[in-house]
Amino acid sequence: MQRSDLENLKIAVVGAGYGGAAAAKALSLLGADVTVHEQANAIREVGAGIGLRPATMNRFRQWGIHDAIAQVSSPSDYFEILTATGGPIMKESWPAEGDLTHTRLIHRGDFIEALLGVLPEGMVRLGRRLEAIEDRGTSSVLTFTDGTTAEADLVVGADGIKSVVRARLFSEKGPVFSGEHAYRAVISEDDAHGMVTDDNLRMYIGRGTKVYLLPLRHRGQVSFDITALCPDGTWAPHVTKDDLLATVAGFDERIVEITRGLDMDTVNIRAVYDIDPIDTWHTDSVVLVGDAAHSMLHHQGQGANSAIEDAGALADALRDAGSLPEALALYQATRKPVTDELQRISRQGWTEAEIDEVFPGQRPATAGSATATTAP
Ligand SMILES: Cc1cc2nc3c(=O)[nH]c(=O)nc-3n(C[C@H](O)[C@H](O)[C@H](O)COP(=O)(O)OP(=O)(O)OC[C@H]3O[C@@H](n4cnc5c(N)ncnc54)[C@H](O)[C@@H]3O)c2cc1C
Repeated sequence: MQRSDLENLKIAVVGAGYGGAAAAKALSLLGADVTVHEQANAIREVGAGIGLRPATMNRFRQWGIHDAIAQVSSPSDYFEILTATGGPIMKESWPAEGDLTHTRLIHRGDFIEALLGVLPEGMVRLGRRLEAIEDRGTSSVLTFTDGTTAEADLVVGADGIKSVVRARLFSEKGPVFSGEHAYRAVISEDDAHGMVTDDNLRMYIGRGTKVYLLPLRHRGQVSFDITALCPDGTWAPHVTKDDLLATVAGFDERIVEITRGLDMDTVNIRAVYDIDPIDTWHTDSVVLVGDAAHSMLHHQGQGANSAIEDAGALADALRDAGSLPEALALYQATRKPVTDELQRISRQGWTEAEIDEVFPGQRPATAGSATATTAP
């Protein structure tokens, strides 16, 4: 599209998570008039770490914000998978050989703060919860729960796994329970019983449980995350310290000690959900990005990274295509095959024997049977 057309384009982004903030940055660099509508009155993220892959960091370099992210993250050389007691299983170099950009480990709160911090003052409107969307063909109208409305040439639905934009226009199917819980906390390196010796992510696998230790050494901390098979699909389940300890029984004694030392008030506890792939991500004036389009399980560590890549691909498509409808079709054609595959392989987290042990005769849909459990 011509620069003058892009400068006349009014864009409303719904959601100020990683996908929405990145889309706002990438699209405003094209010259478009961007406003972000976020339901929360203050942006808060879960206390946990994630790895930003080389492709993600390369996008940040392209947008001129690499240093803002690098300042609050640590470069990492590899991701290692080990048995529950520390025996080697596999090691993946990140970056791959020949790639000059490193994966960087970051606290989720620092990440969203840095991303929102590079947006122009006033671009993000807080306390604006989307209730309804009317697609009028060449524009769309958003209605918020406070009764206000906004019209835009392009609406970017970046409103996460429970997306209202997706539910109203693209798919009424709800999120699907994976049969797992995630327990996440950020603790001091001093409480890690010597398990943090470098800047590399390690995952320990026992029967039905995965433990991730993601160092945040620039903070003197480590993100300690347990993912465990559990049949309770309550979105925010009640779980005790003893429940956590049961999931790590038989693991390296230091992992058991870390778990024993956790302050339960700081542990984020949630059931894990994704969505089935949906057929279409766009009309002529509405498009989905991030979890709204393709929420996936976290086993590949690709959800937030994919949201950033979506934002980059959407901006590329707007720049390269002849019109807005063509750009949205090009964006979907570029990204959907990639995320369909990531959604598929992210569901392959457990062996059949492990699943059968927790769900005798009745597997959750994401583990390969037809029994879907939808989110509340
Ligand atoms: C346990 C776990 C571990 C993970 N680990 C990793 C990892 O290591 N690496 C990785 O890349 N990814 C990981 N992910 C996935 C990652 O968290 C998500 O993919 C990512 O947060 C998606 O970003 P998003 O912006 O699309 O959605 P979200 O982060 O969910 O943001 C959506 C935003 O929209 C707002 N919103 C929602 N509804 C409305 C509305 N109606 N009106 C206005 N605003 C609204 C929300 O308040 C929120 O701010 C993990 C996820 C889980 C559950």
